[in-house]
Amino acid sequence: MYVLRGGRVADVDGTRKADVAVADGEIVAVGDPETVDAAVDEADGEVTTVDADGRVVAPGLIDAHVHAMMDGRPDVSTAVSDSDYTASYRTASNLAAAVEAGVTTVRDLGSRGTLALDAGEAVAAGDLDGPRVLACGRNVIMTGGHGNWFGREADGPAEVRKAAREQLKAGADVLKCMATGGVLTEGAVTGAPELTPEELAAFTDAAAPTNTPTAAHAHGEEGIKNAVEAGISSVEHGTFMDREAAEMMAERGTYWVPTASALRGIVENGVEAGIPEDAVAKAEDAADRFDDAWDHALDADVPIAMGTDAGTPFNFFADIPRELEYMVEYGLSPERALEAATVNAADLLGLDDVGRVAEGYRADLVVLDSDPNADAEAWQDPDAVFARGGRVV
Ligand SMILES: [Zn+2]
Repeated sequence: MYVLRGGRVADVDGTRKADVAVADGEIVAVGDPETVDAAVDEADGEVTTVDADGRVVAPGLIDAHVHAMMDGRPDVSTAVSDSDYTASYRTASNLAAAVEAGVTTVRDLGSRGTLALDAGEAVAAGDLDGPRVLACGRNVIMTGGHGNWFGREADGPAEVRKAAREQLKAGADVLKCMATGGVLTEGAVTGAPELTPEELAAFTDAAAPTNTPTAAHAHGEEGIKNAVEAGISSVEHGTFMDREAAEMMAERGTYWVPTASALRGIVENGVEAGIPEDAVAKAEDAADRFDDAWDHALDADVPIAMGTDAGTPFNFFADIPRELEYMVEYGLSPERALEAATVNAADLLGLDDVGRVAEGYRADLVVLDSDPNADAEAWQDPDAVFARGGRVV
């Protein structure tokens, strides 16, 4: 049992003075010292006290979009020839880096085979250091579409339905498809629609009986609208979102996962750093339009969940907390960035016991030097991280 004493607590309910007691990976008390002491007496176990004086206890971050098998190398296509074993070791080191940075839940939106699903099981079993991992298995894409080097190609509603069901059979926590082209696939046109409205409808329909969340990679406005109309749970990237798309998303409660870190990683490093020319040109074009997407999303009040696309060029797992600063630069307040990275992401992932510092919630916690509700930079370099039932930093 751990007791974090003398500090403040910060989550979506605000920042306030409180002690926190955790036992067996669960928050068992939050409040004044008397309340917490009562819980400690009742638990009657060995207590480790953590001095939180002058510090702030916050929920661990949730990243709704990562690729655990990718390591931020400039040219992702060079990973194609890596063996499955190499990809597994890389996944292990990425997950360790994420949890050390205070990220206590990630959602993998595309790795090869069952790699990320297996990693999630290994973390849950205590065999691997890392955040909780929810995963989609393989991406469902059209033949030759974005990410075809590791996706499950499928054409027509019947094949798409089967491809989606294959992922569910493999244990997917979420289904992911490509509704448009992408930046990192040579030759793919970033904004062009890929899966058709009929195929997208079959995709979401396959997820419906088990209430499994669905995610669509979509840059162009037509692809975004196709995905929203099909009832997708989240639009990933949404780079060319126009006013109409934003209003549709707000009305339906479709989450936007902006992945600002992905564009930054490519644009700020460029061809000189070894990123393919084609990807840099597409990312530069996308970055210009991304500012407008934020304006439309904020005007329409589109719900936002944090995601980074970690693993893409120069977008490292250790740097995930920077996404909150980027979201603030685009116009979110630090409080709303916290909301996006905690309760909103939890809601999108279908988790009802993470994202708050409250009794009964999982003890996924970070101890910070300053208040993240006042400053998004506070998430950098946590003093302590609690996850998976213990203290990991
Ligand atoms: Zn991605």
